[in-house]
Amino acid sequence: MARYIGPQCRLCRREGEKLFLKGMRCDTVKCAITKRKYPPGQFTWGRGKLSKYGIQFREKQKLKRFYGILERQFRNYFEKAERQKGNTGENLLNMFERRLDNAVYLLSFAISRKSARQLILHGHIMVNNKKVDVASYLLKVGDVIKPGNNEVSQNMVKTNSEVVKGRNLPAWIQLRSDVLEGVVTQLPTREDISVPIQEQLIVELCSK
Ligand code: SF4
Repeated sequence: MARYIGPQCRLCRREGEKLFLKGMRCDTVKCAITKRKYPPGQFTWGRGKLSKYGIQFREKQKLKRFYGILERQFRNYFEKAERQKGNTGENLLNMFERRLDNAVYLLSFAISRKSARQLILHGHIMVNNKKVDVASYLLKVGDVIKPGNNEVSQNMVKTNSEVVKGRNLPAWIQLRSDVLEGVVTQLPTREDISVPIQEQLIVELCSK
């Protein structure tokens, strides 16, 4: 993943659209993409017309960045998505969306997906009253996600929720804000998934 350089975050500049990777920073003027939508650099190579392969590759990179997935993990997900019934692209997005780190982010328990992974890895999140420290854990209908029973976990999640002040939740997950827990009410559909991606391009690239 590209590194943060200078006072402005430029992570999404190459993609040309906001991917919201840096939590609260993304809504401030420190986001470079709100100022200029084209890639950085004084040369035109980044702005020229991309080949078909280039477009497909960029879509894949965008998806990986959005959910914080490494290449090897991506390959495993893709193979699983291909084996499932239905549309491979949608199967792939469905699995990414159901990851525990994504749900923790959507529920406003963490400021970014990256910090959601940290919360989980450090044992601050429970699923169905059991500690789960695997960020890639795939949620099922009926799963209940909440902070650990200890004071530290409760306080961290509460503070993050207050800072974020609520996100627009997709239909597949519900937040019970009074008790600080989330419930998976249904499997995500394509309409629920906000990542600005053309998944068919990725399927074409990875099926070669
Ligand atoms: Fe950085 Fe967020 Fe702006 Fe992307 S949207 S460039 S992650 S501040």
